[in-house]
Amino acid sequence: LNFREAALEERVAANVARCRYKKPTPVQKYAIPIGLARRDLMACAQTGSGKTAAFCFPIISSILSSEDKEEIKSYSRRAYPKALIMGPTRELTNQIYEESRKFTYQTGLRPAVVYGGPPQGEQLRQLDRGCDILIATPGRLNSFIQRGRISLSRTRYLVLDEADRMLDMGFEPQIRSIVEGADLPSAGERQTLMFSATFPKDIQQLAADFMSNYLFLAV
Ligand code: AMP
Repeated sequence: LNFREAALEERVAANVARCRYKKPTPVQKYAIPIGLARRDLMACAQTGSGKTAAFCFPIISSILSSEDKEEIKSYSRRAYPKALIMGPTRELTNQIYEESRKFTYQTGLRPAVVYGGPPQGEQLRQLDRGCDILIATPGRLNSFIQRGRISLSRTRYLVLDEADRMLDMGFEPQIRSIVEGADLPSAGERQTLMFSATFPKDIQQLAADFMSNYLFLAV
């Protein structure tokens, strides 16, 4: 499989060309078709393997080619992201945000990033400008959900990146509260992609709890 054969939505394909990626990395080669087929996926892949593009390309492509073009006007200053990508750190979420900006170029989709540490003001102002793809650390996301500034009721794509690191950092209660909360569509009504460098018992349990009939990929 090469990027041209991958049947990505044309604007995403144009952005892949702009990035000058010549050929897909191993995780991209398998994860992109699985993602486009709307299957759930547990992928064991390291940092540097190209996993960011592996989950961004199919999700952005699916959002753009889905029938649901309805623009959600939020009068309540509440963001309704179509996709949620969770990661462990400010550094990683910022990296995903920067990549997603390249991949959504000229698509009209707006990525936004929220993470713990800095004051909430600037992040809230960014959410107010619109947020189709939200990249977030679990703690800050949870507090925005609890304050009514983010709703996951229209989120059909969920990514857990570096899931093992998120558990190592003690985020499991926050992750469970977000994913098992009443707001987010259930496993059968959303697509869930999990990425982890390792696949210990606690990650296996999360995969079983969060996904339906998922595929397993190790690269
Ligand atoms: P990641 O593992 O997602 O952090 O990606 C590692 C680096 O590889 C990033 O700088 C990407 O821009 C780059 N990259 C991702 N996919 C490709 C590809 N197919 N060809 C060349 N570079 C890539």
